[in-house]
Amino acid sequence: MKVKKDELENLFALQDLIILNRKLEAQAKQLATGSDLEAARSAQLANSAEISQARLDHEALIRELQRLEADLALVNKRISTDKERLNKTAVARDALGIQHELETLAKRAADLEDVEIELLEQKSESDMRLHELEAQGEKLEQELQLTKARVQLELTDLKTQFQSNQKTSADLRGKISAELLSRFDSKLARGLAVGRLQKNTCTACNMSITATALADLHQVPADELASCPECQAILLR
Ligand SMILES: [Zn+2]
Repeated sequence: MKVKKDELENLFALQDLIILNRKLEAQAKQLATGSDLEAARSAQLANSAEISQARLDHEALIRELQRLEADLALVNKRISTDKERLNKTAVARDALGIQHELETLAKRAADLEDVEIELLEQKSESDMRLHELEAQGEKLEQELQLTKARVQLELTDLKTQFQSNQKTSADLRGKISAELLSRFDSKLARGLAVGRLQKNTCTACNMSITATALADLHQVPADELASCPECQAILLR
């Protein structure tokens, strides 16, 4: 088959564009599967679950604290009643009994106050944790929106590149004979269709061509189509 050098150069450029567009398509497919978005969404879901749990824990703490404060109020009320009774009684035995009860009540009040301090500390920690989780939630929401926007931009960009490559490909096809194109397309369906001969290596298959085969190749006239003896790719010499 007769070929012109420019036709072969065009064919080589066409092959580059087709391979590039295959890569762009694969990238677009990968982006469209939404794995990046999925990761951002699942991080957000995990955070929401943590916030719910932290709120439940926090509310439970507050209820426990309220119960404890009610208990403490009862004990304190009992202490002041006992003190009044102690002031009013003239009976030594009653006074002893009340004093004994007051001692027990004072110990009980001190124990309850210790627990209250402990619970107040836990409450302030739980408050901090809730705030941290909520701040983290806002950050994750921003990240999700950014990821969405980025994926959209990348997809648009890939589409633009793809369409521009397709247009250039169509222009190149217009400059190549139908016979050569048909041979090129059927070869490209199986692998690389065009390679360059660099010294004694074919760039399509990266195989070294034997001295004998190389001598045969050099026998092929410059305006005739030559193929790699190893991979049958159309060779640019
Ligand atoms: Zn080859």
